[in-house]
Amino acid sequence: MNSNEIDIHHELKKYFGFSQFKGLQEQVVKSIITGNNTFVIMPTGGGKSLCYQLPALTQEGTAIVVSPLIALMKNQVDAIRSLSSENGIAHVLNSSLTKTEIAQVKKDIVSGITKLLYVAPESLTKEEYTSFLKSVPLSFVAIDEAHCISEWGHDFRPEYRNLRSIIKQLGDIPVIGLTATATPKVQEDILKNLDMVNANTFKASFNRPNLFYEVRTKTKNIESDIIRFIKQHKGKSGIIYCLSRKKVEEIANVLQVNGISAVPYHAGLDAKTRARHQDMFLMEDVDVVVATIAFGMGIDKPDVRFVIHHDIPKSLESYYQETGRAGRDGGEGYCLAYYSYKDVEKLEKFMSGKPVAEQEIGFALLQEVVAYAETSMSRRKFLLHYFGEEFDSETGDGADMDDNVRNPKSKVEAKDQVVK
Ligand code: ADP
Ligand code: MG
Repeated sequence: MNSNEIDIHHELKKYFGFSQFKGLQEQVVKSIITGNNTFVIMPTGGGKSLCYQLPALTQEGTAIVVSPLIALMKNQVDAIRSLSSENGIAHVLNSSLTKTEIAQVKKDIVSGITKLLYVAPESLTKEEYTSFLKSVPLSFVAIDEAHCISEWGHDFRPEYRNLRSIIKQLGDIPVIGLTATATPKVQEDILKNLDMVNANTFKASFNRPNLFYEVRTKTKNIESDIIRFIKQHKGKSGIIYCLSRKKVEEIANVLQVNGISAVPYHAGLDAKTRARHQDMFLMEDVDVVVATIAFGMGIDKPDVRFVIHHDIPKSLESYYQETGRAGRDGGEGYCLAYYSYKDVEKLEKFMSGKPVAEQEIGFALLQEVVAYAETSMSRRKFLLHYFGEEFDSETGDGADMDDNVRNPKSKVEAKDQVVK
């Protein structure tokens, strides 16, 4: 064990109170401390923040953290401040600050107090900020949610495309990219756009061995099928995803009529109702939330026991994220998707109004969902392969946890199942 190693364990305990690193964190932290460009791919909840926060806290200078959401930045800054007696240890720099506040931030950075400076990408492009940041010692730049740089990701943000040229102006400092998007295409985009193809790359496994995957053919009887499923999981928490607000309302209503405690959630409901329904779910006043994809970001309910897709998702990436909300505690998590080719056509039609380049990407992503739904191989193997991960469907962790592996279809059956 070298002294470096002893130090980071000590710092981990000192700042975060943890006695152990999670997954690949230790290797990542070492890579960053050594001054390398570093690329981190870990599923949501994997502990990416600590990967750059710990090096930032222990190094000279200020680390710039680029993050797409102001709300996320505020949470992180509050969390870091709670670890220290020094309020100026972390700051946000954005357009909502007053002149006085900006002056304070700059003062703290210059005096070396500030270890982490959170900035939105559009703020970083501002000349007054870049010229200031050029003049102070920086440890590194961390780009959180780095998939925002790619059109193949689920959350493309054009401002992310300017990051590399701005970082170059700031000097020769290491760049750390972090994302939970595991598709090889997005990763390649990130590395290329950030000009860090030689970065030390750390990729955690995306396998969720406790999740069971099943795809059922969507028929007219879908509603009674869902009701039966929920009654078999009586009293358990679950989420049902639907494509449209109308469908959300319809299904929530059908469930209620059938004695299942369920609430709807979609962007068409006012903020108060949405918050109330979300709280009811978290507090277990209701068992089921019927929702559009507006529901789920940042929701951390550990004991969600099933996630049902009434309609197929627009990409396997979304499917993974949405089903990933089941079984966070390591307990049972049943992921059931209903599939009909008609829904694919509906989604395609929906996309046809968009710019051609976007359409092409959308169609390609959708084709992968179709292939997943129609496959007769191990669904876990299929999903993980999509994320660039080879899974051994005989001996891998969770190998028998899907419909295809449990009940292999004969070729004829498999073909009959496809409803076009
Ligand atoms: P991500 O950004 O990868 O989704 P976060 O950075 O938000 O994940 O971390 C997820 C959770 O894991 C947080 O609650 C965090 O406190 C916890 N965590 C991170 N590192 C450790 C660790 N070494 N030991 C225990 N818990 C950890
Ligand atoms: Mg994160």
